[in-house]
Amino acid sequence: MAKLILKPAREKSLLRRHPWVFSGAVERIEGRADSGDTVSVHTNRGEFLGWAAYSPRSQIVARVWDFDQSTAIDAVFFRTRLQRAIDLRKHALNASFSQALRLVHGESDGLPGIVVDRYAGVVVMQLTSAGAYRWRTTLVESLMELTGAAAVFERSDADVLALEGLEPAVGVRSGTLPPGAVQFDENGLRFGVDLQHSHKTGFYLDQRDNRTLARTLAAGRDVLDCFCYTGAFTAAVAAGAAASVTAVDSSAESLAQADAHLQLNGLAAARLLAADVFQELRRLRDQRFEFDMIILDPPKFAPTAALAERAARGYKDINLLAFKLLRPGGLLLTFSCSGGVSPDLFQKIVAGAAVDAHVDAQILRWLHAAPDHPVALAFPEGEYLKGLLCQVPA
Ligand code: SAH
Repeated sequence: MAKLILKPAREKSLLRRHPWVFSGAVERIEGRADSGDTVSVHTNRGEFLGWAAYSPRSQIVARVWDFDQSTAIDAVFFRTRLQRAIDLRKHALNASFSQALRLVHGESDGLPGIVVDRYAGVVVMQLTSAGAYRWRTTLVESLMELTGAAAVFERSDADVLALEGLEPAVGVRSGTLPPGAVQFDENGLRFGVDLQHSHKTGFYLDQRDNRTLARTLAAGRDVLDCFCYTGAFTAAVAAGAAASVTAVDSSAESLAQADAHLQLNGLAAARLLAADVFQELRRLRDQRFEFDMIILDPPKFAPTAALAERAARGYKDINLLAFKLLRPGGLLLTFSCSGGVSPDLFQKIVAGAAVDAHVDAQILRWLHAAPDHPVALAFPEGEYLKGLLCQVPA
């Protein structure tokens, strides 16, 4: 088995159990390894640091599977890790109100490059690293066995695959998918995901608790849901007895699904606007519309820290406009899922937006991903979703 030898003094992050080895930290490789092979990682003096998956084309040249030299990286290892992740969800959170749950959250569950979501009887697996690709068959077999699912569907088509030099892989890997959309309940509401044809990930499970919060706050309010996708927040606030719901997304197809979700749940129709949110917020302001609650859940503006500045301008713009559209006493639920924007920076951006909008807003709550998306203490990058619940004075 090949050995990755680090440059002198480059082992610090691994000693803190951060699982990534950057190419710049590697001095040399001893022996031959192909993409996805397990290699051992060593300090410059030769001390063992961990077993890792080799990914020669990526800047993250290796991702550690385990830090213990006595661990064998084999089918039993993956089965045990998957079982641990699934058990943690059973014990640590009472998610009985949802049939859709993230079972495996990558690095934070000790499985770099592996994400697994459960939608009722179907398990969706998303692989994003060379090591994960290597163990695909083992992962599929173990998931079928451990979850009792009717099917495992692979949805490995994230943009980051290109950085690893991997080809997208989408399709049924085991079992049989039910025809049409897979339906599931979340907090008493029924949703569907079309795993085969949806252009994006099926559903934003990370926002589950924030949807529940929005629902409890919505009664009697005129709500504006921006970047509504298939209407998960839209349906939640409608179910929470909002006075009216307006939802905006640039994708007409997503809006049609949002409408279908409202109907499926017997909820009042929303005003669905196929538009660019940046332009629509300006139009609503110019036409003197007002709302009592605004949700801003945009896509990732900054996948990396390098793009944070451009992203900051985008966040500032939409938050400023949202503050202007809020009535006195209004609530803003504002999010960023950009890994490159820290919680601290996000708060500063929203604070700047409030100043420019001439409102004295308060933070009522910090918002995060639901606990089936844990953040390993050693892996702060796992905290990508952050949000603020703000209130403007009555
Ligand atoms: N809030 C959603 C998830 C949002 S995903 C939920 O809880 O399910 C981001 C959405 O923003 C996508 O549906 C995408 O079509 C939409 N989008 C991206 N850029 C946009 C823009 N400039 N204006 C309007 N919608 C946009």
